[in-house]
Amino acid sequence: MTGESNEALFRRAQRVIPGGVNSPVRSFRSVGGAPYFVARAEGARVWDVEGREYIDYVQSYGASILGHAHPKVVEAVRAAAAGGTTFGAPTANEVLLAEALCERVPGLELVRLVSSGTEAAMSAIRLARGATGRDTVVKFAGCYHGHSDALLAEGGSGVANQGLAGSAGVTAGAVADTVVAPYNVVPELDRDVAVVVVEPVAANMGLVPPAPGFLEGLRAECDRVGALLLFDEVITGFRIARGGAVEVFGVRPDLWCFGKVIGGGLPVGAFGGRREVMEHLAPLGPVYQAGTLSGNPLATAAGLAVLAELDAGAFEALTATAARLAAGLTDAIAGAGLPVQVPSVRSLVGLFLTADPVSDYDGAKAAAGTGLYARLFHALLERGVALAPGAYEAAFPSLAHGPTELDRTLDAAARAAAAVAAG
Ligand SMILES: *Cc1c(COP(=O)(O)O)cnc(C)c1O
Repeated sequence: MTGESNEALFRRAQRVIPGGVNSPVRSFRSVGGAPYFVARAEGARVWDVEGREYIDYVQSYGASILGHAHPKVVEAVRAAAAGGTTFGAPTANEVLLAEALCERVPGLELVRLVSSGTEAAMSAIRLARGATGRDTVVKFAGCYHGHSDALLAEGGSGVANQGLAGSAGVTAGAVADTVVAPYNVVPELDRDVAVVVVEPVAANMGLVPPAPGFLEGLRAECDRVGALLLFDEVITGFRIARGGAVEVFGVRPDLWCFGKVIGGGLPVGAFGGRREVMEHLAPLGPVYQAGTLSGNPLATAAGLAVLAELDAGAFEALTATAARLAAGLTDAIAGAGLPVQVPSVRSLVGLFLTADPVSDYDGAKAAAGTGLYARLFHALLERGVALAPGAYEAAFPSLAHGPTELDRTLDAAARAAAAVAAG
């Protein structure tokens, strides 16, 4: 620790890091002010460098499902580190983690570990193109699949927070084969489509559940034209249910991407799918993909420790916590006279400050456009509750968010909403 204030550290950061942050959404740009710099965290709480305590619903955008610094994860990482941090040769834990993933997700037969969700999505797209011999990728507006060139268009999350449609530096050629469709409408596909990539619950434009029939419709339309269906479960995987979206919605994709939860807070990602599709990957097939740190010993140790804690009771507890949070936030914010929608799907919670239910990116943008989110965000932060510093993110209650944390959150929410309503 340097003993400096958040403001001082942010000024110092901006001298050596673009915008002072290593990922744009952390910059507070869309909500204003200086970010808090985290000194340490435990369970549901983080403490900033000034000693302020927050009940944390960021939880590394869902990577920390057990809460911060869970003793089992800390011990697993400590033990793994002592045995060497990377070898360039396979390890038993890579096998155990791949088995743990395949055993939980119905239809997942082969999986490859990488080091981020971005890498997982990028590699899955290359694989889908290689396996089908087709070029076109269909994605949905407001869904985020990491920051690879072909997938940034209308990417939600930080892309939306920065007011960008996509990104400078992405060539026309890189996106020439990307088609963007509105979420919750089944697009009509043609036979050039290699893959349709979707967040089965959209969690990067706030939280937008799939409309009844949407995922089923995508499956049928992909089957009709011979395209592959890719579920990006970097957020939903091992969070909304043990088996992820397949278990909740009963629709099976051909390919999946995972990240966040499965690394227990260490850099990780994975992509996988049906055996016959995955066998197009090198060294078995012609689609190349690789990584020096893939299947890293610290990440696999942490991931295994997390998955071991996620039994049926854990998912029940997470869902109950999220339901109580969603109902309580609705009461607190509506009670102050502010317009509010709090969608939730199992353990995921969203927050739109609008009177109208949101079913797609246009709706999410309209809700964000009122500017209310930034005001409520700061009013909550002052009262010790940290939401994500952007209107397009979900909230991530963890297993460490118990009744005490929920009571404090909802009490703060009522006071914060009243302050915002009072102007
Ligand atoms: C976070 C996220 C990614 C990207 O993962 P990184 O580890 O940040 O690269 C991809 N897809 C979805 C749905 C995500 O939420």
